[in-house]
Amino acid sequence: MIIYLNGEFVPREKAVVSVFDHGLLYGDGVFEGIRAYHGRVFKLGEHLDRIYEGARAMCLEIPATKDEMQEIVLETLRRNKMSDAYIRLVVTRGVGDLGLDPRKCPKAFIFCIAASIVLYPDELYKNGLSVISVSTRRNIPTACIPRVKSLNYLNNIYAKMEANLGGVPEAIMLNNEGYVAEATGDNIFIVKKGVLITPPSSAGILEGITRNAVMEIARQKGISVEEKLFTMFDIYTADEVFLTGTAAEVIPCINVDGRIIADGKPGEMTWELIAAFHELVKADGPLIYPGVGVSKK
Ligand code: PMP
Repeated sequence: MIIYLNGEFVPREKAVVSVFDHGLLYGDGVFEGIRAYHGRVFKLGEHLDRIYEGARAMCLEIPATKDEMQEIVLETLRRNKMSDAYIRLVVTRGVGDLGLDPRKCPKAFIFCIAASIVLYPDELYKNGLSVISVSTRRNIPTACIPRVKSLNYLNNIYAKMEANLGGVPEAIMLNNEGYVAEATGDNIFIVKKGVLITPPSSAGILEGITRNAVMEIARQKGISVEEKLFTMFDIYTADEVFLTGTAAEVIPCINVDGRIIADGKPGEMTWELIAAFHELVKADGPLIYPGVGVSKK
């Protein structure tokens, strides 16, 4: 495995960061989880926009242009001869002293890993997930902005721990007002009477790129899509529930807090959106190996 590490491509054993890096010391940094499918990097432009916006919100200057960052991602895939991958692009505040002041870190540090990921077992994609709502609330936007995909994931880790302790693979987090926000690393959708509903970004969520892609697919299919606040009641009484994320892709939920959703099987609209999503990923995003033709899986 070859990893991009701040200007160099190095083998995995050499891919190390300093113990004085503020990404490690304070979770001070931003990252992206990105996927490549069939020789293309899905929604790479959107991922780059999000990491630059997050960095801007935290006054973190990324020492590379967007075009250079795109090339870092593509070249990391090429060096690993990969056409399908899960990519982790990270920008940390860089090396400073033991004080938390970001001004002590003269230069941000960039690394990029091309690997793979399996978030949930295959069986759950066919039969659906059981999830629970947890007591850990999603970070409030006036404290740790959920729209920034920062390296500070302790909020989500607490919720994941609750899911683990509850014996289910995923947790639903509410915002501080008690409205549904999202899962620990995924966005949430419900279907009610043919309408597709997901919390708005003002609910205090990470605005997922898969979420936005699924909403776009649905609109193109003529499905009504609403971004609005809802509560656990709306989930318990929904016709369908599913989660979206780069790592998770689109996965149905069939049991929430012990309530069986509808007839306990993934719903029709969920299947339709899953199929359309898998079609979209074949055609979207820059080619990793331009001129070579798109690789087949
Ligand atoms: N919410 C959170 C908290 C996440 O960490 C993620 C993915 N990493 C998502 C939602 C889904 O976002 P995306 O579709 O862009 O991967």
